[in-house]
Amino acid sequence: MVTESPCVFDRILAGEARAHWVLDEPALAAFLDVRPVFKGHTLVVPRDHFATVAELPPGALSGLTEAARRIAAAQREALGCDGTLFLLNDVISQSVPHVHLHVIPRRRKDGLRGFMWPRMRYDSDQEAEAVAASIRLALGG
Ligand code: AMP
Repeated sequence: MVTESPCVFDRILAGEARAHWVLDEPALAAFLDVRPVFKGHTLVVPRDHFATVAELPPGALSGLTEAARRIAAAQREALGCDGTLFLLNDVISQSVPHVHLHVIPRRRKDGLRGFMWPRMRYDSDQEAEAVAASIRLALGG
C-alpha cells in the first residue's frame, strides 16, 4: 500500500484533486476510477480517512455497500450493463490507503476472467464526465 498524507482520495474529497464525481453525500462519496476496468467503474469511499476496513467505525461499511447497491442499479440504467463486480482490496492488493469499494459494470461476454484486471482509458476528459453525469442522473442527482 502506498502511504502518502493526505492520500489521493483525501485530496479528491477536499476538492484539491480532480475526479468525476457520481455521488456526494455527508458520510461518503463516489467518483470514477481513473483507470477503469470498464467505463463507469466507480469507487465508493468514506469521507473520513480510514486506511483499512478494520479501522472503520461500526456501520460505515454497510453505508458504503448500500451506496454501491444504488450505484450498480444506476450503472445498469445509465450504461445498459448486465451486472456488476463489487470488489474491495483490503491491505493486500490495496494501492490507495483509504478504504474504497469498486463498483464495476459488467456485460455478458465482456472478457473479464478471474482476477486479471486489464485497464482501459477514457477517450477524453469529456467522455469521462459524460459517463459520470449519466450515472449521477440515474441516481437522481
Ligand atoms: P486498489 O488497487 O483496489 O487499492 O484500487 C485503487 C484504485 O484507485 C485503482 O483502481 C486506481 O486506478 C484508482 N485511482 C488511483 N488514483 C486515482 C485518482 N486520482 N482518481 C481516481 N481513481 C484513482
